[in-house]
Amino acid sequence: MNYANFTKDELISELNALKLKAAVYAAKGIALDLSRGKPCAEQLELSMPMLDKKLDYMRSADYRNYGILEGIPEVRRLMADLLSVRVENVLALGNSSLNLMYDAVARAVTFGVAGGQPWEKGSKFLCPVPGYDRHFKITETFGIEMINVPMTKDGPDMDVVEELIKDESVKGIWCVPKFSNPDGIVYSDETVRRMANLRPASKSFRIFWDNAYFIHEIYDSVPMLNILEEAEKVGNEDIVYMFASTSKMTFPGSGIAFFIASENNINFTKKYLAVQTIGPDKMSQLMHAEFFPTADALKAHMAKHAEILRPKFDMLCDSLEALHADGVVDYVKPRGGYFASVFLKKGTAKRTVELCKKCGVTLTPAGATYPYGIDPDDSNIRMAPSFADMAELKMALEVFDCCARISHVESLLK
Ligand code: PLP
Repeated sequence: MNYANFTKDELISELNALKLKAAVYAAKGIALDLSRGKPCAEQLELSMPMLDKKLDYMRSADYRNYGILEGIPEVRRLMADLLSVRVENVLALGNSSLNLMYDAVARAVTFGVAGGQPWEKGSKFLCPVPGYDRHFKITETFGIEMINVPMTKDGPDMDVVEELIKDESVKGIWCVPKFSNPDGIVYSDETVRRMANLRPASKSFRIFWDNAYFIHEIYDSVPMLNILEEAEKVGNEDIVYMFASTSKMTFPGSGIAFFIASENNINFTKKYLAVQTIGPDKMSQLMHAEFFPTADALKAHMAKHAEILRPKFDMLCDSLEALHADGVVDYVKPRGGYFASVFLKKGTAKRTVELCKKCGVTLTPAGATYPYGIDPDDSNIRMAPSFADMAELKMALEVFDCCARISHVESLLK
């Protein structure tokens, strides 16, 4: 039933039928939200036993007290093992990696970076699109001009990146290298290597490598090259700022955020951290260390998350597949992470979100996946299936299906 083969009369009668369907949804008083990638209650339950652990806090120091700026060695070791990096390259800090990214930008603007001057007025940042709205908000807030870089199935278009970094005012790039938010794309080995080998005109350039979903597989295991190691091989290790957190492993906002970087970058960062704080929340770190004594323990925990998420992603992708078969959407089935990204016919994303809203389903605002909230094609919508239960998700996807078809057919009739 590809709409491209419909006559005008057939399209009109299809539109009328779809609008009747939408009116029924609107009358039901549905209130569902597919806008943010939050774990559901069942996922949060997985981590509740962490709170029952008796904490052995007398270790190399009394963890109940101030100190240990770098974070406790146990969780630094855990992250180092998971990411195959050295413990010295890992700082275990506050409760939010987004906060660390904001601080890293603030520091770069104010004090520069190790071996590089402060980001001056007129600085620019590369933003693979579609991307994570909160990344873009950070650079926008600091008045840094954002430049769209197209995503490919292998990650950001590296030909474009390599060309743009010849401009000295370009100071960095946002990357979510594994299960990207929102496309669920995993950067290919070639992309990681080309990133690690970048030689930007600006000495203050940094790759913001937001590894938010590095062990968040939903189906099979998905390996990815270690950018820090690749950069070290070519003496370029200072180019990477890597971030990760336990937000989507245990309790979002009540966990540990990690900064992973070269020795130079770690020393530079610690100099300012020591002014900002006396130390991180070591009791929360200790709770995590007791709950996850080894990397394997954490991997087993993530497998339980995957079991909960898998049917939801299956349901989402089955629904998108039906729309794809009818020529309404394009999408790539994610193998992990928290999102899928849908490309509709140009000029129909805003209309689809608006129609869904009228039927009681909230989606991430169209445009949010682009800098300044402007999707030049008005075609991309981010879908987040994790939070809703299966019945809610089914209903929300039926509504989305109906609304995406309405805006598609309307656009064909224009
Ligand atoms: N980075 C990405 C790509 C995300 O999708 C999210 C949350 O959805 C975050 C960072 C937020 O992480 P945190 O809770 O560690 O601040």
